[in-house]
Amino acid sequence: MKLVRFNGGRIGLLHDERVFDATAIVGVDPAEWPPVGMLKLIRNFDALRGQLERLPKESAPIENVHLDAPLVWPHKLLAFPVNYLAHGHEMASKNRANINGFFMKSNSSISGPNDPIVLPEVPGREIHHECELGVIIGKGGRHISTADAVSHVFGYCCLIDCTIRGNEERVMRKSYDTFTPIGPAIVTRDEVGDGANLDMKLWVNDDLRQNANTKDLLVDIPNMIAMASSVATLEPGDLIASGTPAGVGPIRAGDKVTIEIERVGRMTIPVVQGRGGSNIAMQGEYAWKAAR
Ligand code: MN
Repeated sequence: MKLVRFNGGRIGLLHDERVFDATAIVGVDPAEWPPVGMLKLIRNFDALRGQLERLPKESAPIENVHLDAPLVWPHKLLAFPVNYLAHGHEMASKNRANINGFFMKSNSSISGPNDPIVLPEVPGREIHHECELGVIIGKGGRHISTADAVSHVFGYCCLIDCTIRGNEERVMRKSYDTFTPIGPAIVTRDEVGDGANLDMKLWVNDDLRQNANTKDLLVDIPNMIAMASSVATLEPGDLIASGTPAGVGPIRAGDKVTIEIERVGRMTIPVVQGRGGSNIAMQGEYAWKAAR
């Protein structure tokens, strides 16, 4: 099943290029704050599944609706650094997900398949794309074993982990608004099948920059879930950015970034220049002294 959010927080089911409106079935008020309708659907999926499979009455061609980020306000957005060996080599970094563990990004960095990546004004810095499989937790829990982990996966999505290269705190460099585009849908685990064998590609304009398969993950999906849940209780809808393969590189205003993951989906995101976003940490020691 492919699940989407659309037209300002409505919940839908994507089937044969049509979006079926499941908002009433799920019992979601699209105007609710915080916008956690998709989390409720994930939490109650077993009970709702039969009704959803019979397809809601109202539907529209996908080109007539505005797709929003399929999931916003997750309880946690976890991310794994250097989780493909070749990416470690290209960064000349000794960091490895199996040695260093995971980090977190701000949930507010999540944006949708129709939202541009808005670049902050950080002169002299490169802002990079990272092509990643997004893993969405279904059943939560603590201390989940690798043997049980896959049963805790609700589904998958395309995810671009944008980052400013530099030495400041990684959380800050990766937490800018729109730095985590996800979508276009959440595809349930049964429909994707083996998450450990998915081709993934990322283009900037027509240039194929990243081309890899999730079988080359250093920390595989079961071990990501075991590691994350050894620290924190996972909740339905928690999102894991599983790490980027080699081929990262700069994006610039005017670019179009396309991500495609086998059996998960494809989306193209424009890159635009925003205003502001620099700060004394980004500007270095001189700016700090001047600000005092
Ligand atoms: Mn990443």
